[in-house]
Amino acid sequence: MPTSPPQTPADTLTGVLAAMAAIAKPDKAVIEGMEVGSASQRTFDNLSSRDGSLINRIAACDAADVDAAVHSARTAFEDGRWRNLAPKARKIILHRLADLMSAHAENLALLESLDTGKPISDARAVDIPLAINSTRYYAEAIDKVYGEVAPTPEDRLSYVVHEPLGVIGAIVPWNFPLHMAMWKVAPALAMGNSVVLKPAENSSMTALYTAALALEAGVPPGVWNVVPGLGGEAGEALALHMDVDMIAFTGSGPVGRMLMHASADSNLKRVSLELGGKSPQIVFADCDDLDGAAANAAWGVFYNQGQVCTAASRLLVEASIKDVFVEKVLAVARSIKVGDPFDPATRFGAMISSRQMHTALEYIERGQAGGGKLLMGGVQARGDSGGFYVEPSVLDIAPDNILAQEEVFGPVLSVMTFTDEADAYRIANDTIYGLASGVWTANIGKAMRAAKALKAGLVWINGWDACDITSPFGGVKQSGFGRDRSLHALHKYADLKAVSISFKA
Ligand code: NAD
Repeated sequence: MPTSPPQTPADTLTGVLAAMAAIAKPDKAVIEGMEVGSASQRTFDNLSSRDGSLINRIAACDAADVDAAVHSARTAFEDGRWRNLAPKARKIILHRLADLMSAHAENLALLESLDTGKPISDARAVDIPLAINSTRYYAEAIDKVYGEVAPTPEDRLSYVVHEPLGVIGAIVPWNFPLHMAMWKVAPALAMGNSVVLKPAENSSMTALYTAALALEAGVPPGVWNVVPGLGGEAGEALALHMDVDMIAFTGSGPVGRMLMHASADSNLKRVSLELGGKSPQIVFADCDDLDGAAANAAWGVFYNQGQVCTAASRLLVEASIKDVFVEKVLAVARSIKVGDPFDPATRFGAMISSRQMHTALEYIERGQAGGGKLLMGGVQARGDSGGFYVEPSVLDIAPDNILAQEEVFGPVLSVMTFTDEADAYRIANDTIYGLASGVWTANIGKAMRAAKALKAGLVWINGWDACDITSPFGGVKQSGFGRDRSLHALHKYADLKAVSISFKA
């Protein structure tokens, strides 16, 4: 599959279009080291978010294919072809995968932008480099994970080792397809597991491409299988499979709930859930960088067309600076032009699907029906393109508005005010979610109090999303449980085994 040679990035729309037309479009599952169609020969249509056209038809895996992939992964796990390699050997192979991803970065970026409608500039500068970085980070960690020796009496030695769980089912979303996949695949492989990855049906191509690169890098066949397909078919079959040890999921709350039911209805497999959010960004009047805060307020929600689980969708502004601050945010938002995602100059592209676009537009209507005042946007854009575009939108709302509670997963910023610290934290914590939160203040005491008061897995003070692979990522409340990123993520894919040896002292 990854046959086309690495390319020099085209810097014009025409050049990008030509490169996309030339590139091979992965459409087969990867099972037992082979690229295969679905057993049923069925496919599903993969549509372009940019213009609604058909990109390709991808193998629609169902229970039979998932069974074959899990069997392949289980066999690879039990015969030790991967987990029994010396840590250094696995490290070298995963580094080689990262090298190959770097060599093929342009192809990966083209496929990611083609699949999702995200700006090619973002795919090149963010998605693919971050996916490579995760692969390298966990490759490098492989020979740095130690067990423990327990404090035992003289006549015993008790030690504790991290054992891989076995077969990991990873089900990932379409907003950052390869980036989210590697947050799970890289640590799971690093710990010696086998993986069956189910990409989102809107964005399968980079996962398929990268799994083929992994084979080239020396990851043995069966260790990483990819089963593209619909959530209700391939995803559900993976979730219900009796021989999958864990499901690592990023996606919507309703599917997260189903995965927990599926675990209970099958083999009690572990489940980790990274679900959505309604993340607040709190701006206090004593913030000494209102321009920086305004840029982060706008881009914190409009980046990736708002399709980010940590999107800063609620802006909480101290009442005394509301007018001046909101004007600054609107100025940044007005500068964000909806454009053709394949034009290297575009910073804001298409939404993933017609359904996601209509969801966002409906939420904007419902927000207004509930008393919200539309300050800008609120409409579809580039309607004649055939693609799925929504203007960056800002609404002034009250805390009881639907837009203060429900995740839109689109480019919709809701502005509210607060009167004092306690009021800010009360409003910020008043949702079912607890993923990310942000605070802008020049007062260190206030920043520390906020960090403690906010019920969220991530707190960013004076800088939205100012963190990376070295910090754990995940939520509290109905934003899910379990953490991606950092060395902590490695332990999610391992069990502790305690071994005790008794002897004559
Ligand atoms: P989704 O939860 O349906 O899809 C995520 C993944 O789950 C995909 O791979 C999908 O195929 C799979 N899936 C769907 N149904 C399944 C099932 N029954 N069993 C097993 N797997 C299944 O998300 P969506 O429908 O693509 O988007 C809807 C909403 O989900 C969005 O509006 C947003 O609120 C949320 N979402 C959140 C994230 C995130 O990063 N947390 C990402 C994408 C979507």
